[in-house]
This record gives sequence, structure tokens and C-alpha cells, in this order.
Amino acid sequence: MITASSPGLSFNLDAPPVEAPPECVDVIMWALAREYLERHPPECERCEPVAGEPCAGRALAYAGLATACDVEKADSAYWRHLTELRRRENALASGLSTDLAGTVARADRIVATHVADTAGRCTACFAELGFWTPYPCSTRRWADRTHVIASYEGTS
Ligand SMILES: [Zn+2]
Ligand SMILES: [Zn+2]
Repeated sequence: MITASSPGLSFNLDAPPVEAPPECVDVIMWALAREYLERHPPECERCEPVAGEPCAGRALAYAGLATACDVEKADSAYWRHLTELRRRENALASGLSTDLAGTVARADRIVATHVADTAGRCTACFAELGFWTPYPCSTRRWADRTHVIASYEGTS
């Protein structure tokens, strides 16, 4: 069972402060996870949670908030990927902002997050859409094609 309290954290995962708490080690991850938590309220309609349990999206947001505060969770790797890619996107947006560079950054992000779970289903599609799709999903296939095209253009 997933609970909203976690040892080592000064706040409840169901009601995290807006400003990152003192134990936060990654404010970008904190902001991403908080946004995510808001998209998955306790009565989430996109994921249809089981009564008394947070929906899958909310559970993922808990993991992100904890990871931002240096508490390791099963989904910590997912959050580190997502945050790293957001940093790269921010860097791209402030520097070389060609259409192709932006598209490649999007594809990078998809490749890192659209990964199969142990049952061969796409984790990110479930998190974003609320239903399971067989892996590789169409989003991942688009990203792989984009990388192939970009390699011809000499960008990747
Ligand atoms: Zn949800
Ligand atoms: Zn997917």
C-alpha cells in the first residue's frame, strides 16, 4: 500500500508546500512533481483510482517529491531522467533554438521516459494517458524515427 507519509520528510506527500522544503536537493524536480500531483487529485478521473489508494499518477508524483528531497523510491530513476531532460530542454530553449533541435529534445525525453514495465506495457503512456498500451508505443516509435531522421541531418 502506498502511503502519503515517508520517513525523512518534513511534510506530508498529499499536501507538499509550494516552496521547496529545506531538505529539497532539486528544485526543478520538485516543481515538476508538484505539477504532476496537481494533475492527479485524490479523486482522479483520468486514472480511476481504487478506493482508499492514490491513483498511479499520484503515486508517481509522491515518488518525485520524495526523490527531489533525496529519498530514494522505486520510481526515482524515472524522475531523474525527466528532470535531466527538462534541464536540457531549458538549455536548448535559451541557446540554439532550431526546430530540429527542439524536436530532437522531445524525442530524447520520450526515449528516456517511454519504457516498458515488467509486463511489456509503456510506463509513460500510462502515466500520461491513464491506460496501458503495449510497448513500444506509437510515441516511442515516433521518437526512434525522429532520431534516425536527425542523424541524417547531422544533429544527433
Ligand atoms: Zn491520476
Ligand atoms: Zn509510451
